[in-house]
Amino acid sequence: MNTPEFSCLPLKPALLENIESLGYSRQTPIQAESLPHILEGRDVIAQAKTGSGKTAAFAIGLLSRLDLSRFKVQALVVCPTRELADQVCKEIRRLARFTQNIKILALSGGTPFAPQRDSLEHGVHVVVGTPGRLQEHLQKHSLRLDHLKVLVLDEADRMLDMGFSDIVTDVISHAPSHRQTLLFSATYADPIREMSQRFQFKPVSVSIDTSHHDNVIEQRFHKIDKAHRLNALGYLLAYHRPESTVVFCNTKRECQDVADTLANCGFSVQALHGDLEQKDRDQILVRFANKSCSVLVATDVAARGLDIHDMQAVINYELPWDAEVYLHRIGRTGRAGKKGLALSLCTEAELNRVKAIEDFQTLSARWDEVAPFKLAYEQRFQPPMVTLWIDGGRKQKVRPGDILGALTGTAGIAGSEVGKIDIFDKQAYVAIKRESADKALTCLRNGKIKGRNFNVHKSHWS
Ligand code: ADP
Ligand code: MG
Repeated sequence: MNTPEFSCLPLKPALLENIESLGYSRQTPIQAESLPHILEGRDVIAQAKTGSGKTAAFAIGLLSRLDLSRFKVQALVVCPTRELADQVCKEIRRLARFTQNIKILALSGGTPFAPQRDSLEHGVHVVVGTPGRLQEHLQKHSLRLDHLKVLVLDEADRMLDMGFSDIVTDVISHAPSHRQTLLFSATYADPIREMSQRFQFKPVSVSIDTSHHDNVIEQRFHKIDKAHRLNALGYLLAYHRPESTVVFCNTKRECQDVADTLANCGFSVQALHGDLEQKDRDQILVRFANKSCSVLVATDVAARGLDIHDMQAVINYELPWDAEVYLHRIGRTGRAGKKGLALSLCTEAELNRVKAIEDFQTLSARWDEVAPFKLAYEQRFQPPMVTLWIDGGRKQKVRPGDILGALTGTAGIAGSEVGKIDIFDKQAYVAIKRESADKALTCLRNGKIKGRNFNVHKSHWS
């Protein structure tokens, strides 16, 4: 099916040009269905699976509505988690990257309040935030929504799952009733319909049937003995050698055990669970996304809102009880048209879970062999990139171009050796191809970035 190009939408030429420069040649199905209504100013309730391009749909909608000469909050996006808020913020910034003087601000918990308040005082057009922190700003009057034109509820189903219903209601009560409300969700159950009834006015409802996406994710099931679960996991990783994999466990404890064992066997692995400090969580996600850590072992709770692109595989170390949770897990691979691999380990006693999954998707499971395998301690599975950590960030006015310039300038490292660059408030991370990492490290240590010397380290796990 050929979806329409963006040029058939009534968009400002600069926005259109930027969308095309990002390589978005055609609209995704959910964009094609929802954008005409969004641009007309209608309330829209949109449902499509993760990775279908919902963010750009509402981002393009809200960017089209802004009056940049007025420094008032005109668009608000409410997201369930901080990671999601950060990602949505990034996508909106990408789509607005050539727009002068536009202020887009993330307001999430886990980061200091005062700097957010200061940024708000300077005037902001678009706010992306999590419910709790938004509520706090509204109560303290650092955030006002009197001039709000567009309200977006992203991943509304997750927000309800996480118990944010009352807080979201309170946040919305500060917004003018004459506004556009866009509600996005991966599922379309009764609570979502109710939410729509409460907050939307004559909404247009658009939904993309998920079944025609199914062939993008290859699902394979592997029958194993309980005692061989870890070895079987080692086999799947060694056989498929994915550059990026999320391994799902059902408990926090198991998550840590599995990560520790894999680490001891030379895998590049990190555990992602709810007990981590935000700073460690940020670092882990940076390293996973920039391909200097290949395996993330996670619980469902910790992986909430995780949205990393190009993930090659998802492995269910143990199947969840609920078929819907299974679908949510595997939906993290095979995004935006790329092929993904979903591998699941299953004991005899867990076969009923596979049955539930088959029923839910109306398909029959494909079973594959796990060859005998023993996790050994001398194996090395090295990721393609190494992360260098720089002791300076946004506060020191370090920008990606400065780091790239320092590497490719006098040091003569080819631009193709440099991967993702992530800038935080007080630190920055740059991914370098493993072969060039030492050279890059020496060069950054001896040279200057923005005319200054910064401390630079190889992040200690690499
Ligand atoms: P969702 O919110 O539906 O889970 P996202 O908005 O995160 O999905 O989009 C998934 C990926 O698809 C992102 O990497 C995004 O940049 C990309 N994407 C969005 N729209 C398009 C498009 N029209 N063409 C190509 N890629 C797109
Ligand atoms: Mg989304």
